[in-house]
Amino acid sequence: MKRLHVVAACIAAMLMMPGFRPSGFVPEQLNPAIVLSAENDGMNAFAERYVKLVLAMGQHDTDYVDAFYGPPEWRKEAETAKRALTAIDADAAALLKLLAASPPQKGADELTMLRHQYLTKQVEALRARVVMLQGKKLTFDEEAKALYDAVPPTHTEAEFQKTLAQLEKRLPGDGPLIDRYDAFRKRFVIPKDKLDPVFRAAIDGCRQRTIRHVDLPDTESFVVEYVTGKSWSGYNWYQGNYRSIIQVNTDLPIYIDRAVDLACHEGYPGHHVYNVLLEKALVRDRGWVEFSVYPLFSPQSLIAEGTANFGIEVAFPLRERVAFERDVLFPKAGLDPKLASEYYEVFALTDRLSYAGNEAARQYLNGQIDKNTAAAWLERYALYTKPRAEQRVRFIEQYRSYVINYNLGKDMVAAYINRRAGDDRDKRWAEFEKLLSSPRLPSGLTHQ
Ligand SMILES: [Zn+2]
Repeated sequence: MKRLHVVAACIAAMLMMPGFRPSGFVPEQLNPAIVLSAENDGMNAFAERYVKLVLAMGQHDTDYVDAFYGPPEWRKEAETAKRALTAIDADAAALLKLLAASPPQKGADELTMLRHQYLTKQVEALRARVVMLQGKKLTFDEEAKALYDAVPPTHTEAEFQKTLAQLEKRLPGDGPLIDRYDAFRKRFVIPKDKLDPVFRAAIDGCRQRTIRHVDLPDTESFVVEYVTGKSWSGYNWYQGNYRSIIQVNTDLPIYIDRAVDLACHEGYPGHHVYNVLLEKALVRDRGWVEFSVYPLFSPQSLIAEGTANFGIEVAFPLRERVAFERDVLFPKAGLDPKLASEYYEVFALTDRLSYAGNEAARQYLNGQIDKNTAAAWLERYALYTKPRAEQRVRFIEQYRSYVINYNLGKDMVAAYINRRAGDDRDKRWAEFEKLLSSPRLPSGLTHQ
């Protein structure tokens, strides 16, 4: 999950832009050295098979295909064929054998090596999802490893208690802490009629900071829509052709921190930029068709959510963020700017409780606690209000161990970027952009 309580996943519509044909498939735009390589031809054939497998999975699992902007006839084929799970699995197993028998040549460049590892892990994760759809129960940790290529840490209640004790001191008074926290936060709700101008200002702030460091195609853009009745709070539906639709769920009150969070996470430099850079660098420049599809339950999601969450800090280091909130967003939302730093002090504390959400998910999905206990656990240790805890449990039911991608993903990406760039701001952006433009796997974040 992201930051406080709201969950932003990133599905994408399965729409093609009318008349759109990815220029990655236009030979004159490809690097001739790459096109002519026999090895690349072999990988391209494997990649096409993988995309078709992902599309075939979409017939069994409506959440599976998060984005697809490759040849539209491939989707039609998948719809018509409606291949059985056993056939998909057999084909995936055969593809893995072929991949294992065709390792990259010695001296291949880093991206070529990463491409081979990425495709292998993505197909392995697809097979794990087949097994789940066939009814096999994996534990939370087994599922996280199989789908997201990462092992989630466990945290004890005592660890969360320490943070809760600090919050007790920070928000003194009578009654349960959750009520005091809720009363504190109520002063920071964005009024409904101010939502759109506040989000627009936040998006502008995130975009300005991003384009100073990252080269984006001139035609990139997205639209924002306000929706209700979802288990998530925000969503990026990548359409291809450098365009996204970003949806914001207004079922529950939206607090002021969500404006920058959502604008960065879903937009700049988060999901929108990630998808744009993959399309530009890999699909179009290299003709790597596998990146025109995005299976939600796969290692790619840990990188997507981890970079989207860490991107908030890349764009807005804390001090700059508080200044931006105080000077721009608080006034636009009609909130008292003098309260901005106080709000973010408390926010920093509650952010440490995000892993409590993973523990609730682990226990619930492992069958150790029921739905109501999971919601109560979220209220107690993650300070979710009741309606938000209930929304979160619905998210856990729908997306399961996907929850680790937000906080563990962010921490893994943060460690990777910090190791390579330290505090140097330009270097951080450069490494971040490189990560967004390459097929690096979650396990590859910790090894290098
Ligand atoms: Zn997301």
